[in-house]
Amino acid sequence: MPDKLNKEKCPVCNEKELELTETSYNIPHFGKCFLMVMNCQACKYHSSDIQSEEVKPPSKITFEVEKKEDLNVRVIKSAEANVKIPQLRMSMESGPNSIGFLTNVEGLLRRFKKIVEDQKESAEDPSIKKKAKNLLKKFWKIECGDLKVKIILEDHTGNSAILSDKAIVKKL
Ligand SMILES: [Zn+2]
Repeated sequence: MPDKLNKEKCPVCNEKELELTETSYNIPHFGKCFLMVMNCQACKYHSSDIQSEEVKPPSKITFEVEKKEDLNVRVIKSAEANVKIPQLRMSMESGPNSIGFLTNVEGLLRRFKKIVEDQKESAEDPSIKKKAKNLLKKFWKIECGDLKVKIILEDHTGNSAILSDKAIVKKL
């Protein structure tokens, strides 16, 4: 059961309308971790982060998506993590607005895909639109298991993981 706190002070608008939810998960081969979600009813501020109970070393995790089944592999991404897909020249860098989440490879790819979809929608330049369209085709191929890509997750807090025997974990 998640722990919930209501009417906390919001760090953005200072109204006492912040809802704090903390859920703990016991993840095999990773251990216990906590997902904290903040939602402000007043200014719609939203943030989330994930932290592992155990202190882990900074790590660089490489995972190759080769087949459809790989999409189901669980991913823990903390707010401090950088995620890269070099082959697609895409990355998610950590910053003041980055969030942490628990997902799977499919969910992670979907977040990248959303960036491209938004670019395609908002771009005025036809060449950018075309580039985005081609990139979306690649995502589709990855989802079908027709295109292999490497996902690289770097986290200096050690709070991130890709839960597969195939994942290569190195010290950062
Ligand atoms: Zn607020």
